[in-house]
Amino acid sequence: MSTSLSGRYLRLALVAHDAKKDALVVWARDHLAQMQNAVLFATGTTGARIKEALPQLDVTCLKSGPLGGDQQIGAMICEGRLDAIIFFIDPLSPMPHDVDVKALSRLAIVYDLPFANSPTTADFVLSGLAAERA
Ligand code: PGA
Repeated sequence: MSTSLSGRYLRLALVAHDAKKDALVVWARDHLAQMQNAVLFATGTTGARIKEALPQLDVTCLKSGPLGGDQQIGAMICEGRLDAIIFFIDPLSPMPHDVDVKALSRLAIVYDLPFANSPTTADFVLSGLAAERA
C-alpha cells in the first residue's frame, strides 16, 4: 500500500449510522486539515451532515446507505478507488440494511482495506495512512 499512497490524495469513504453521525462530524472536524487534503466520499445523509457542519470540505455524496450507498462504496472497494473506510456503526440499534453493512465489511476484508468503526480506530487508521505517505 505504501508506494501507491505516496504523492496523491487519500481517498476516504465516510459513513455513519444515525446515532453516530454527530460523532463522525466531530471526528472530521478534529482532523480537518487531513480531510481538506483528502478525496472524500460519503453516503447521502452522512455526506449532507458533514457538508452542513463543515462547508469547507468537498464531499462527493453517494446514495443514502439504506438505498444502496453502502453497496456503492462496496463497488468502489472492488475497483480500487478507496484507501480506507471510516464507518461509525451503531452497535445498539437494529438496521434494515444490516446485510449491506455486513457485505461492506466482508469486501473490506477481502481487499484488506482499512475499515474503521469507531473514532479511536479511525484515528489509528488515519495516522497509519499518513505514516505510509511520509
Ligand atoms: P446515510 O447512510 O449516510 O445515508 O444515513 C448511512 C448508512 O449506511 O446507514
